[in-house]
Amino acid sequence: MRVSLYELTRGELTELVESWGQSPVHAARIWHHLYWGYADSLEKMADLPARVRARLEAETRVGALPAALETQSSDGFTRKFLLGLDGNRMIETVLMRFTGRVTACVSSQAGCAMGCVFCATGQMGFKSQLSAGEIVAQAVHVAREWRLCAKSNGESPAGGSHRLRNVVLMGMGEPLQNYEAVMKAVDILRDPSGLALGAERITLSTVGVVPGILRLAAERRPVHLAVSLHAATQEGRLALVPVAKKWPLDELIAACRRYSETTGRRVFYEWALIEGRNDSAEDARAVGRLLRGLPAQVNLIPLNPTAGYAGAPSRSEAARRFQHILGGEFALPSTVRQRRGIDIAAGCGQLAGGPGADSARFPAA
Ligand code: SAH
Ligand code: SF4
Repeated sequence: MRVSLYELTRGELTELVESWGQSPVHAARIWHHLYWGYADSLEKMADLPARVRARLEAETRVGALPAALETQSSDGFTRKFLLGLDGNRMIETVLMRFTGRVTACVSSQAGCAMGCVFCATGQMGFKSQLSAGEIVAQAVHVAREWRLCAKSNGESPAGGSHRLRNVVLMGMGEPLQNYEAVMKAVDILRDPSGLALGAERITLSTVGVVPGILRLAAERRPVHLAVSLHAATQEGRLALVPVAKKWPLDELIAACRRYSETTGRRVFYEWALIEGRNDSAEDARAVGRLLRGLPAQVNLIPLNPTAGYAGAPSRSEAARRFQHILGGEFALPSTVRQRRGIDIAAGCGQLAGGPGADSARFPAA
């Protein structure tokens, strides 16, 4: 199989081009085509000398992922792409448009082995790991689509406002169970002469893989860390997140403490608000007590519907009360995540990698 260019760091691409006896200038040009031109095929790199093109065509491919399906939410702010991988595998990637910026929500695995009860990806089980190139390809896909959209709206491509601003590793899969590939992808996404997504622009969300969090800290990886908490007791968490058995709550909190001490960064804690389950005033106080003294922000996500879980999202009054208690009694900042793309099953925890696998299974909200 020819190597995917998205799989290579700029240094590796330069080495490859030099190994052909060619000038590194050509590597810089290829890089520019990939991450500024968003070229999805080698044919689009027309200004390369024929001898470089010939080697590229013989030994490499861009690695762009074909979109088998695209859906757009009725408000137009969210677009979901079903992208094909080798071997008939499929993943989903989401473009989320907020005022003045675009975020790509990318997958790190096809499916997921962690089995969180309310998550459609968990309900489908684990299919395979993604390579670094397959992760990078998703971000570039979103960047390319966003620029096409900006151009067709007559917005000037100058000034960089059409560039992808943020990447969240919050799609399908558990990124810390695919550590090497995810970190290589992060390095490629950050490259200052490529997509140039700095440390503040990439957020990795984990279910709470303790060894992975400790490794992130030890290696001081330049990403924001979000940890999916959902319950403030070991017992409560076990019922929602089965892997809490392997990585219990006290160990998870200790790892987060270590992460913040080592990196100086605060951690985002995600909390899917489930009506009558984890949204009471007492639940909010338990979160406040659990996170006391930690640099933290809580992101509340009203539960999104999935076929395999019957829970309902908390009402907005419950979400407001939760926030009020966290802020008022514990000085703990929090946000309620905007519900986006629910009608096309593109919300948190709704990605399941196939048209029949999501929208057909439950009606649009
Ligand atoms: N595997 C990682 C990242 C992908 S899931 C993780 O679990 O953190 C991204 C976020 O969506 C997580 O916080 C997850 O708990 C949350 N989530 C999963 N299913 C959800 C649902 N049905 N409604 C709301 N949030 C959900
Ligand atoms: Fe996997 Fe995250 Fe879904 Fe849990 S919430 S099953 S870890 S993708």
